[in-house]
Amino acid sequence: MSEDCIFCQIVAGDIPSRTVYEDDTVLAFLDANPLSPGHTLVIPKTHHERLNDTPADVAGEVLSTLHELVPAVEAAVDAPASTVAFNNGEEAGQEVPHVHGHIIPRFEDDGGRPIHALVTDSPDLSDGELDAIEADIAAGLE
Ligand code: AMP
Ligand code: ZN
Repeated sequence: MSEDCIFCQIVAGDIPSRTVYEDDTVLAFLDANPLSPGHTLVIPKTHHERLNDTPADVAGEVLSTLHELVPAVEAAVDAPASTVAFNNGEEAGQEVPHVHGHIIPRFEDDGGRPIHALVTDSPDLSDGELDAIEADIAAGLE
């Protein structure tokens, strides 16, 4: 547990939450400032700042919980779709530094935008630049 982490305090029961699912590894609860009805967060119970810091087995549990919860959340609020996303790091908009996946139910004409609307000036990358990025990512996995 990280003493000053708000999500660790929720896991510890020191801050109340509207919990919708819990097991030994994962906790899911309603977002306190929902972007839509049913906006739910899924977190590991252990403190990891971002996906990059999260052990693979824990990340797998978070993803499988998201997978299980998405249809339940959508059904609960009668949503035909949802945006499922992580703000992974401060520059990406992550405000609570304890990794969490968002399930944001989406509705026809809800005024929301797709993930592609995150960036307004997307880069115009050359074939050479794309080749280099492709190679660097693949090399980083070795
Ligand atoms: P992010 O910007 O991805 O770090 O999102 C953090 C989310 O945590 C925001 O959507 C907040 O509304 C939500 N949040 C912050 N404090 C609480 C809390 N005590 N209980 C539930 N959700 C919270
Ligand atoms: Zn934490």
